[in-house]
Amino acid sequence: AKKGNGPSSFLIFTEEMGAKAQQTLTMQHRLRRALENEEFVSYFQPQIETRSGRIVGMEALVRWISPEHGLIPPGAFIDVAEEFGLIDTMCEQVLRDACRWNKRWQDLGLAHVPVAVNISGRQFHNSRQLLTMVDTVLRDFDMPPQYLELELTESSAMSDPENAINVVRLLTERGISCAIDDFGTGYSSLSVLKRFPIGKLKIDRSFVNEVTTDPGDAAIVCAMIAMANALDLKVVAEGVETQDQLNFLHGVGCDQIQGFLMSRPLPGEAMEAMFQTRPPMPMPV
Ligand code: C2E
Ligand code: MG
Ligand code: MG
Ligand code: MG
Repeated sequence: AKKGNGPSSFLIFTEEMGAKAQQTLTMQHRLRRALENEEFVSYFQPQIETRSGRIVGMEALVRWISPEHGLIPPGAFIDVAEEFGLIDTMCEQVLRDACRWNKRWQDLGLAHVPVAVNISGRQFHNSRQLLTMVDTVLRDFDMPPQYLELELTESSAMSDPENAINVVRLLTERGISCAIDDFGTGYSSLSVLKRFPIGKLKIDRSFVNEVTTDPGDAAIVCAMIAMANALDLKVVAEGVETQDQLNFLHGVGCDQIQGFLMSRPLPGEAMEAMFQTRPPMPMPV
């Protein structure tokens, strides 16, 4: 059938809509079952101090280990989980897994570094539930709050800044630090940013990608780092894939880096092996 203004285009439209809706519905059912079976785990990506190559933190990234479909990355299900109110339960599974591993590495004397967990905007909206969940999990694992960091994307921080500032303050009072994720993609008001009691900015990887080839991106990254330093925030560059990017970022004073150049996100067992063997990390030259 041809697309146009006639009734046939309406038909195509509804068929496509129907197929999409059916897909979403199927995904929703699969997600609910996976949550019941606790199929969500945390993978870990190390965060490296740029000048020393030391591991100074790690980010927990959700992975769905499906018995039928294998490993599924978050891009395939986060939106549906948010839309159908399943994100809290999913996040709790990730947070528990992240804290369980982190506590284990502390107890084994392998690593005493914080783990950063991603929190969706919706959860910041439901702040009471978020705080209760975090308190409960930290208590269950007897984990000191300074070993937990929460990441909030710039866009969700800025969509309801008054509420987000308040939640970040409540978390900070508990000893949990917060980071703004995907910085540069979310239209920050700098006067609002200044009021967030955060400890860290994470430069979105879309800027890091071409930092050595696009002078515009290089200038933006420099400005973000200068601003972070002036506001006394740590700054992490995400998505560092090449030695040239590492060299550049070191040269302009970026404290920490995270990316495939150092390590892909790893299952807990592989992260533990990395703490045991301490492979040399790429260093700036
Ligand atoms: P994010 O929080 O910005 O996480 C960084 C993403 O960049 C991760 O993708 C990571 O695998 C990827 N990455 C890291 N280094 C490199 C690199 O050098 N090159 C490239 N190309 N990619 C790199 P992932 O794990 O697929 O997660 C995607 C997004 O899904 C995350 O972006 C975050 O927004 C969301 N997400 C992940 N886990 C959770 C979670 O537990 N809860 C919530 N609400 N969202 C999550
Ligand atoms: Mg993140
Ligand atoms: Mg990010
Ligand atoms: Mg992202």
